[in-house]
Amino acid sequence: MSDYQWCHGPSCHKRKTTTRVRGVKGSKVLRTIKFAVNSYRANSIYKYFCDQTCMHDFIREHIEEFVQLHPRTECLETPIEVEVETRTDYFGNPYKQKAIREVDNNSNP
Ligand SMILES: [Zn+2]
Repeated sequence: MSDYQWCHGPSCHKRKTTTRVRGVKGSKVLRTIKFAVNSYRANSIYKYFCDQTCMHDFIREHIEEFVQLHPRTECLETPIEVEVETRTDYFGNPYKQKAIREVDNNSNP
């Protein structure tokens, strides 16, 4: 059993596709898409949007609200170590490559 959701795209009901046409001749409309929230959609951003176009329309219209809700006033940093590893290529020849590893400074040894 699935729950259904109306697409949150602000212009979903204005996009000219046959999947949005509802009603009888003389009183047809373009209607917002309604979709089943299946297991794929339930765990993704597509539980709110019928497709990428509607998702991007929504983001463009509301991005300033998102940023005000979650402002970034300073940079974030991830502690790392850069190590040089010796690896072997397809032909068995050794080569060196830098590898970036995250360091957990809060863990106890
Ligand atoms: Zn939509």
